[in-house]
Amino acid sequence: MDETKITNAFTVDLEDWYQGIGLAPEDWNGYEKRLEMNLHKLLGLLDEYEIKATFFILGHISKESPHLVREVHKLGHRIGSHTYGHQFIYELTEEKFRADLDKALKLTEDLIGEKVRSFRAPYFSITKRSLWAFDILAELGIEHDSSIFPTRNYRYGIPGAERFPHRVATRNGEIWEFPLSTVKVAGYNLPVCGGAYFRILPFSLTRWGLSKINQEGHPFIFYLHPREIDPECPRVTLPLPLRFTFYANLKETQGRLHRLFSEFKFAPMESVLESYKLR
Ligand SMILES: [Zn+2]
Repeated sequence: MDETKITNAFTVDLEDWYQGIGLAPEDWNGYEKRLEMNLHKLLGLLDEYEIKATFFILGHISKESPHLVREVHKLGHRIGSHTYGHQFIYELTEEKFRADLDKALKLTEDLIGEKVRSFRAPYFSITKRSLWAFDILAELGIEHDSSIFPTRNYRYGIPGAERFPHRVATRNGEIWEFPLSTVKVAGYNLPVCGGAYFRILPFSLTRWGLSKINQEGHPFIFYLHPREIDPECPRVTLPLPLRFTFYANLKETQGRLHRLFSEFKFAPMESVLESYKLR
């Protein structure tokens, strides 16, 4: 490996496939559980390239499948939170969000025996309507966040937001934000950092965008869900455009991850931010 390469953050939102389709937790029963199988496939891939990642754990997973959370932690990956119930933050009241996150943090911290200090919002749902969430994150001990997407999307995004890691001042102290990575193309911030973008855009475009961010002297942050390496993900009827983005190119993901892992250097988000702070 070229040691002069910039180290980037690899992150996983740890949830099962039916938890990311807009349902409330009480409607999650009855769907086929595929998380354990997909997680093991993903952990195997990370191990093959000796990559440690940050896993943003859904509190519901800590409750229902504690062995998986313990396993991820034991392997040396970093543990963050992804709330308990996977709801859009901008649809919650401040009180509901605080209660949900508090529950998630306690469940996960009890399992791993340490404080959880990193966070990612479900559906990147910290937008201009829910910036109040930062005060609550800091209040509950979160120091590192990756929820802001500096782009325009029908469900998320703050189009003009800062594109690289930066401090956010809150009523309860400072948080470091690692925005989801975008590359500037003709004045537009094009997302090139994982998920559906990774599956839909040609790999050559992803590679170009990610290399450009590194050439500009910054690390990028990449995200993935375990379900995205599962071409057999059960088909359910979803509204457009989610139907398209949810199922597009699932069979390509594993092969593309091999290429990504061979060409870029990765570490957990926390380590990448720690070195960024020292600049
Ligand atoms: Zn999620």
